[in-house]
Amino acid sequence: MLAPSYQKLKDILSVSIDPKRILTNPLQTLAYGTDASFYRLIPKIVILAHNETEVIEIIKQAKLLDIALTFRAAGTSLSGQAITDSVLVVATHGWKNQELFDNNQKIKLEPGIIGARANIFLAPHGLKIGPDPASIGACMIGGIVANNASGMCCGTAQNSYQTIADIRIVLHDGTILDTADAQSITAFKKNQTALIQEIESLRDEIKGNETLYNQIKNKFKIKNTTGYSINALVDYQEPIDIIKHLMVGSEGTLAFISNVTFKTVIDEKYKSCSLIFFNTIQDACNATILLKSSPVAAVELLDRESIRSVENDDDAPDYFKTLPESACALLVECRDNDLVVLKQKQEQIRLQIQSIPTYTEYKFTSDPKQYYFNWKARKGLLPTVGGLRKNGTTVIIEDVAFPLPQLADACLELKDLFKKYEYHDAVLFGHALEGNLHFVFSQDFSNQAEVDRYEKLMSELAVLVVDRFNGSLKAEHGTGRNMAPFVEKEWGSTAYEIMKRIKNIFDPNNKINPDVLINPDPKAHLKNLKPLPECNDIVDKCMECGFCEPHCVSEGLTLSPRQRIVIAREISRLEESKDDPQRLADIRKDVTYQLDETCATDGLCALACPVHIDTGKFVKTWRAKELDSGNKKMAAYIGSHMAGTTSILRFGLKIVSFFHAILGTSVMTALSNLSHFITFGKIPKWIPEMPKGADKINTKN
Ligand SMILES: Cc1cc2nc3c(=O)[nH]c(=O)nc-3n(C[C@H](O)[C@H](O)[C@H](O)COP(=O)(O)OP(=O)(O)OC[C@H]3O[C@@H](n4cnc5c(N)ncnc54)[C@H](O)[C@@H]3O)c2cc1C
Ligand code: SF4
Repeated sequence: MLAPSYQKLKDILSVSIDPKRILTNPLQTLAYGTDASFYRLIPKIVILAHNETEVIEIIKQAKLLDIALTFRAAGTSLSGQAITDSVLVVATHGWKNQELFDNNQKIKLEPGIIGARANIFLAPHGLKIGPDPASIGACMIGGIVANNASGMCCGTAQNSYQTIADIRIVLHDGTILDTADAQSITAFKKNQTALIQEIESLRDEIKGNETLYNQIKNKFKIKNTTGYSINALVDYQEPIDIIKHLMVGSEGTLAFISNVTFKTVIDEKYKSCSLIFFNTIQDACNATILLKSSPVAAVELLDRESIRSVENDDDAPDYFKTLPESACALLVECRDNDLVVLKQKQEQIRLQIQSIPTYTEYKFTSDPKQYYFNWKARKGLLPTVGGLRKNGTTVIIEDVAFPLPQLADACLELKDLFKKYEYHDAVLFGHALEGNLHFVFSQDFSNQAEVDRYEKLMSELAVLVVDRFNGSLKAEHGTGRNMAPFVEKEWGSTAYEIMKRIKNIFDPNNKINPDVLINPDPKAHLKNLKPLPECNDIVDKCMECGFCEPHCVSEGLTLSPRQRIVIAREISRLEESKDDPQRLADIRKDVTYQLDETCATDGLCALACPVHIDTGKFVKTWRAKELDSGNKKMAAYIGSHMAGTTSILRFGLKIVSFFHAILGTSVMTALSNLSHFITFGKIPKWIPEMPKGADKINTKN
């Protein structure tokens, strides 16, 4: 039963939005409410919004009823910023328009477009969008911009903040600002004078405070997604420019993004890479510092544990297994549109780092097999750890950044921290050129001792990153619920107050994705942890990352592979715990159609899954398990009497078609509906498209 205000919202919105897209049943709210993070909140209502008019109506009505909203794109966020226990507004289907203009220098994209899809559109022109998160095959423009997502090559030069040209947003009261439209800007400035004044006074305060000004400038020299993009207040003078850039990295807490225009960037035609081994992390980090001024496209660091996790790969060279414990690798990538220049760049790189000894000889390769293996080693790290973890545990990816000169010391201290808290499976890798390190480890949240261990790790991590190295606690994955308790620690009280004021300017009632990014609860990162109960061998390693969703034919009709797994896990949990039989019954009521009957079981999802889960295979086992003994006997009988069964069906279809020819379509439809009704659905409905019985195939010829 919905609380009265939520019921009212549902009733009001059902007038203008197709009620089939306003979901309140327990199966769908759980399925749609789940994202890739290790946090879980179940929304009371999920609204699959299809256009801006609907979003404005949702925002206005929710405001009147004082109901909180959270916006969602692909739900691949890792820090708990795309979940809610209130109303989730999913802007994916219906948000796929794109437009290339200004001689291909700009592309306007709606928030439901997958990043890789935008790049497919741009590829024929030798172009791409700047942001390049590893999740680009699944995540969408809304989330990419709202998280200021970035990856191997874009660094701080080509992320959303740097490449955004314009944005169209809907504010908490339904006001629209389209920064590409002069009329919209004029109207906005006229109608939102208080908001503009507040932005101007924040800007002037920061520019008048030298310490704060320099702090902001310095902190954004490395990747930083902790808190709001307050660099907008020092980088820009015009309030509209400031607002545009504040939206980047705002994690859906300031406004809804209806579309974004990016400046396109060049996607070089020729690529080569080299996996260079150094004797120590220090050597690898020193080489990275030298590479900063070289023509490199990417420099990725892989620690010894990272290499170990891929050493059994069929394509891995034998010496991977014999590397010293201190070894460390850099994957260096070179790109250019001209093959001759590419070779020159490779030489420049070699010269640049020649003073640092390498563990083995190295060469750059464009050979598809070797090139692919090098990147597979790097990109496969998360799945490798994810796939090796114990069932029932979560795989956690943290992403921090350090000033480049301190990277080596920071790596060593991080490794000591993992040892101290016995995270023995932790691997350390990342975008070295940006001082951005990811560490991946498995974490059990099923008992208090484990949660305590995680709490200790996080609080010491905050001290290490902030106090020891003046780094960023989040470099590219966004603050979310995960780092919200540490934003003040990283930024200090003056900058934090500015951030709180920003939230208040755009969301005075704290109803747009509350508790994300700004959260007064110092233990917020330890609450609402997602249960990951064992359920079935085929799917137990699922990380709920959502990479499979774009490959699923039933996503949007019913459930995606990720959502099927989420539901199956919850059923397992409820059956095991027996703590909420009503909820179990409610979920089970819809499960046959949602999970089973609408799965094509084609296994396409496994192609995109980092841990190779074929959810189709799982659904087949589910089907077999769910059949009662009568059905199983019937299936077995049919299976062993196939010739007789097909001959009966052929005969039956011929009879039906005979009557159709005599009675006509209208009478036949009416009779079929009647017999379906009076037999309580036992006799299936006839439809005009039903085939005639075929002639028997003569297998003797
Ligand atoms: C395996 C894996 C690898 C990853 N690798 C990277 C990486 O290399 N680099 C990186 O940066 N990130 C990475 N991520 C994190 C994540 O994929 C990205 O941050 C991504 O950009 C999130 O996009 P999404 O479409 O999934 O957004 P969601 O998760 O749906 O939402 C993200 C945020 O955007 C807000 N939002 C969504 N749509 C709108 C809208 N229309 N208006 C306003 N706010 C909106 C949401 O409220 C939320 O706060 C990875 C994630 C996984 C699972
Ligand atoms: S099935 Fe694979 S791709 Fe899909 S959510 Fe799970 S781990 Fe990710």
